[in-house]
Amino acid sequence: MKPLRRRAAPSRLAAALVAALSLASMAIASAALAGCAGLAPRATFPAEARPAAGRAERRMLSNYLPSLAGGPGDSPVYVVEGRKPGGTFFVCAGTHGNEIAGVVSAAILAERAELSAGRLIVLPRANRSAATYPDPERPGPPAILIPTPRGERRFAYGARRTNPADEGRPDPAVYLHPDSSHPQDGAEARNLDRSYPGSPDGGLTARVAFAIQRLLEVEGVAVALDLHEANPESKLAWNIIANPKNVDLAAMAVLLLEEEGLRMAVDASAEEPRGLSHREWGDRTKALAFLVETPNPGQLYPPRTGDPFADPELPLGRRVAAQLAVIRALLAAYNEAAPEGERILLEALPSRAEIEAGGLGALLE
Ligand SMILES: [Zn+2]
Repeated sequence: MKPLRRRAAPSRLAAALVAALSLASMAIASAALAGCAGLAPRATFPAEARPAAGRAERRMLSNYLPSLAGGPGDSPVYVVEGRKPGGTFFVCAGTHGNEIAGVVSAAILAERAELSAGRLIVLPRANRSAATYPDPERPGPPAILIPTPRGERRFAYGARRTNPADEGRPDPAVYLHPDSSHPQDGAEARNLDRSYPGSPDGGLTARVAFAIQRLLEVEGVAVALDLHEANPESKLAWNIIANPKNVDLAAMAVLLLEEEGLRMAVDASAEEPRGLSHREWGDRTKALAFLVETPNPGQLYPPRTGDPFADPELPLGRRVAAQLAVIRALLAAYNEAAPEGERILLEALPSRAEIEAGGLGALLE
């Protein structure tokens, strides 16, 4: 939040009072709603990415759906302009609140990335509400703390789905995506990655999905990447999933990654279930749409001891380094085929070796 720089004039004070009163009545209304479900209303939590002043334009997700403004689904969006025009690259993280490597990778991008051509749009916490409570099935630590030379950085470690206190409606008995005949568990109505293209008048999860889908259209996104993590024992770990229209670029990226010693598998979006980012972004917009999964020891299931930060085999730094390497490889594959005026030339990203040697703290503001 911006600090107040001036004393408010009397008319502003009156307006502020009215706003405070309406916020208070909204709080009472939401407390009543939450009371029905036996849930307490929560405070919003501070932005975790901290790009230095002037290096990125900060917007909010509510720019793309005003009804999100000020609520638990609103979230900062950072825009970094390149020195020359080019294509737009959208990076989304925090779809699932416990898949922390994506959130830290997105913060590093917002704080450090430079572009000689093109434009970068970063949404570090796509589902901000999901970061506000522990996952009921796989609870982790409340937050990951990363020491930096300038102090400790805190990244909330949340849940897979939207906080039920924020959704604004109870879960349905079964969740049915509008374009699917494949019924899913009712709680999946709060899974952002089953909710695209969303709806402007649905529950909070559907509205967040709608705002993100709208961002892709309005900004003319050329390449979109959703950063995730998976159970290290699942077949999703170390995987790039691509919309069928751009699976060839994912395969090319996997070859480039193999050359630098990082083995990833590649898959095309399945027909079912619907509502996943790589499927709906790619089918409904011009964006080439990808999703990456690194293995998070905190997501072992059935739950057992796994440290999402300092696991000796899969420390957070190694997973963040892999996600940034995937970004470099996907863009290299894209730029190979893109016309010159649509290239996306991302610079100043640390290599895997640099991250392993210097640690994450050196990369954050
Ligand atoms: Zn995920």
